[in-house]
Amino acid sequence: MASKLNKGKVASDDNNKSVEARLMRLLDLKDEAEADKIYGLLKSHGLSKAQVIALVETIRREESDIIFGERVIKGELQTNQEDLMDEADLASSDIEQGMKMRMANRENFKVKRLHRALDKIRDGSYGECEGCSADIGFARLSARTIAELCIACKEEEERKENLSAVGRRPKSMGQSLGTKLSVS
Ligand SMILES: [Zn+2]
Repeated sequence: MASKLNKGKVASDDNNKSVEARLMRLLDLKDEAEADKIYGLLKSHGLSKAQVIALVETIRREESDIIFGERVIKGELQTNQEDLMDEADLASSDIEQGMKMRMANRENFKVKRLHRALDKIRDGSYGECEGCSADIGFARLSARTIAELCIACKEEEERKENLSAVGRRPKSMGQSLGTKLSVS
């Protein structure tokens, strides 16, 4: 393979092919034409081929990190149950298991979000803000691959959430609100 890449003009063809082939492999696509189509759609959301590859690789890595973590948690759950000796152990182990289950649920939720991101890459809608249809941008996506809103829409959403929380307080408290919010 290395010798092929050294043959001058052929090298650029091979490089192009390998970008399609890499996406094909990462997303289990049918053929390179499908990869090409995805690149075209994501380009209209401001993402280059190299950026698409980088994002898919990050998503795949995040996914496998979580799945590996879950295996560790499940393995520990089983040994804990086998080693149970008395009621005190049982009680503390229940708490521990509850924590581990909550952790696992949270991770499951993240895996679902990651799979949704992969689906959106496959259908070409990835990288487009669900609020205003603007490009989310590579910088934000690489920091948060599951982002579905651009920074502006995300900040607007958070502002509304804060307003609805603050709205329940009497208006006369408005002035002291700043300090109260910063404490909590
Ligand atoms: Zn937006």
